[in-house]
Amino acid sequence: MKPDLFEAPDYYNLDELLTDEHKLVRDAAREWVKRDVSPIIEDYAQKAEFPTQIINGLAEIGAFGPYIPAEYGGAGLDQISYGLIMQEIERGDSGVRSTASVQSSLVMYPIWKYGNEEQRNKYLPKLASGEWMGCFGLTEPDHGSNPGGMVTNFKDMGDHYLLNGAKMWISNAPFAQVAVVWAKNEEGRIHGLIVERGMEGFTTPETHNKWSLRASATGELIFDNVKIPKENLLPNKSGLGAPLGCLDSARYGIAWGAIGAAMDCYDTALRYSKERIQFGKPIGQFQLQQKKLAEMITEITKAQLLTWRLGVLRNEDKATSAQISMAKRNNVDMAINIAREARQMLGGMGITGEYSIMRHSMNLESVITYEGTHDIHLLITGMDVTGLNAFK
Ligand SMILES: Cc1cc2nc3c(=O)[nH]c(=O)nc-3n(C[C@H](O)[C@H](O)[C@H](O)COP(=O)(O)OP(=O)(O)OC[C@H]3O[C@@H](n4cnc5c(N)ncnc54)[C@H](O)[C@@H]3O)c2cc1C
Repeated sequence: MKPDLFEAPDYYNLDELLTDEHKLVRDAAREWVKRDVSPIIEDYAQKAEFPTQIINGLAEIGAFGPYIPAEYGGAGLDQISYGLIMQEIERGDSGVRSTASVQSSLVMYPIWKYGNEEQRNKYLPKLASGEWMGCFGLTEPDHGSNPGGMVTNFKDMGDHYLLNGAKMWISNAPFAQVAVVWAKNEEGRIHGLIVERGMEGFTTPETHNKWSLRASATGELIFDNVKIPKENLLPNKSGLGAPLGCLDSARYGIAWGAIGAAMDCYDTALRYSKERIQFGKPIGQFQLQQKKLAEMITEITKAQLLTWRLGVLRNEDKATSAQISMAKRNNVDMAINIAREARQMLGGMGITGEYSIMRHSMNLESVITYEGTHDIHLLITGMDVTGLNAFK
C-alpha cells in the first residue's frame, strides 16, 4: 500500500468550532492511524483477519468507551470527541472502527447505563483497557431489521437462567470474551444478559467469505442450554428500547466514521488527480474530474456540519433517535457515493490494494446495512415527520 499522506479536508473551517481538547484527541487518533493502522491494514483486509496487535493502541487513543466516566476506566470525553475518534479510525478502516464502536457503544454503554455497580466495576475497566473484548448479540438469522421478533430466550431456573437461541452477523464474536446478548424472558420481554466465553453450551463460529469489513471478525453466537448466573442480567432497563438505546450511540459514531472514510477517498482522489497525466495534462484539469471532486467536498462539508450539530445536541442530551438516523443514513450514503466516484478517478489503479479506496468502498456496503439499513433509517425519518408508522 502507498504511504499514508492523508490531509484532512476542512473546507468550512470546522476546526474553529472545535475545542482544544477536541483537536488534541482528534490529532492523537489521526497520528495513531497513520503510524499503526495504515501500514498494515491492507494486508489484514486481504487476509480477512482482525489485527489484534492494534487493541492496545485503540485503548490508548480512548477508542474504548470515549464517553464512559474515568472512574470506570473510560476516557470521560464528550460526544464530539467520541465522534472525532470514530472519524479518524474509520479514515483508516471501517472494520477497525466497527470493533471500537461495538466495544464502546454496544458493550460498555449498556453495562454502564443498564447495569448495576458490581457489573460496571467488574467489566468496564477491562473493556476500556482492551484486556477484554466484547460483542453485541441482537440480530438473529430470521430477525434482522425486525429485532423485536427475536426468538432467543431465557428461562428462570431458580438459581440461574437457561439461555437458548442463536445470533448472527455479530462483530467481534470470534474473539470476544464478553457478549451482551438480547433475549426474551418467559413473558416475552427483552432483557440484556452478559454471557462470558467459556460458559458451557456457548459457541462463536466465525463467518467466512465476506467481501466487506474483512479486517473485522464476524461470527455467530450459539446458545445451547447455557447456564447464566442471575447476576449477569442487566437490571436497569428492559424492552426493545434497551438495545435501541445502544444503537443510537453506535449510529451516532457511525455518522462520524463515514465522514472519515469519505475524507480518505476524496483526499486520495484529489492527490491522484494532480499527479496522473493523461492527454498531456493532470486529469484534475479536466472538467469532468473537477465536477467529481467539487461534489465530493460539498457533500463532505455538509455531512461535517450536520454531524457537528448532532454532536452538540448529544452533548446537551437533546438529540432524538430520528435525528441520529438521518445523520447515519445521509453520511454513509454520502461516503459510499464518494468512494465509488473516487475509485473511478483512479482508473485501473483504483481497484488495487495500493490505494485504500476499493477497501473503503467494500467496507461501506456493510456500514450501509448494519445498525439499521439505509431503507430502515428512511422509514424512521418518514415516521418522525408524518407521525405515521410504516413498519406496521
Ligand atoms: C459485517 C456485519 C456486521 C454486523 N455486526 C452486527 C453486530 O455486531 N451485532 C448485531 O446484532 N448485528 C450485526 N449485524 C447485523 C445487521 O445489523 C443486520 O444485517 C441489519 O440489521 C439488517 O438485517 P438483515 O441482514 O437480516 O436484513 P433484512 O432485515 O432481512 O433486510 C433485507 C432488506 O429488506 C429491507 N427491509 C426490511 N424491512 C423492511 C421494511 N419494513 N420496509 C422496507 N424495507 C425493509 C431492508 O432495508 C433490506 O434492504 C452486522 C451485519 C453485518 C453485515
